[in-house]
Amino acid sequence: MGLSATTQYFKTLLVTLLVTLTVGSTGSHADVCHGFSSGPKHGDDILTLINKEAENKLTRNYLPSDLVRVPPDYLAPGRGAQFLRAEALTWLERLIKEGAQNGFKFYVVSGFRSFEDQCMTFRSKITKWSSRFGSFQKGLDYAKKSSAEPGRSQHQLGTTVDLTIERINFKFLFSITSTPEFLWISQNAHRFGYVMSYPWADDDQDGLGYNSKTGYYFEPWHWRYVGQVAATEIFLNKMLLDDFIKNQNQK
Ligand SMILES: [Zn+2]
Repeated sequence: MGLSATTQYFKTLLVTLLVTLTVGSTGSHADVCHGFSSGPKHGDDILTLINKEAENKLTRNYLPSDLVRVPPDYLAPGRGAQFLRAEALTWLERLIKEGAQNGFKFYVVSGFRSFEDQCMTFRSKITKWSSRFGSFQKGLDYAKKSSAEPGRSQHQLGTTVDLTIERINFKFLFSITSTPEFLWISQNAHRFGYVMSYPWADDDQDGLGYNSKTGYYFEPWHWRYVGQVAATEIFLNKMLLDDFIKNQNQK
């Protein structure tokens, strides 16, 4: 093993350890994922299709091997360590720097999330929305449309990031869409290889932009890295990411 390969090996080992300590520690005690099934897929391909179909679900063990830590300067206030795959972070840094040069500052809220971490996230959504609606079934339904079940989260791919801005107090709000920051990112993200996975749906019926094709509400903060070529084609043709990947797979 050469020096650089050795260095890379230890870097990967260190990151894996950090990820385990930071986000995976919940998996060690009582099984937080009880009741959630593992899927068949690995996500190394940058164009891995992840959605609500049975075959498009990640294994419980899938963990990208090249995760790197997002520099603390890019994190929203109060956020702990976040990780992304190396290429996704390289391009995100370029996006954030060019945005800032134009007066538009973006902050990372979430990057990579392990299967176990998604179990926690999804469970907390069910609890939150069930109590809000006073009905478990309604809460579960809302959670499924606003959050991904474990194995179906693009965050487990390590190429997906939730971004926010100071103007909306670093939250996730639809009102981000009427800010100059959003106007800029929605017109430029593709140049850095990023696309909005869950855009506003034309067939929206409840004011939440629910898309019957993806099965999710509008998420204007959720950006996935797919590379410049794919992102540009998706942007120019106003395509859904899922449709683009399905088309690619048929070629
Ligand atoms: Zn997200």
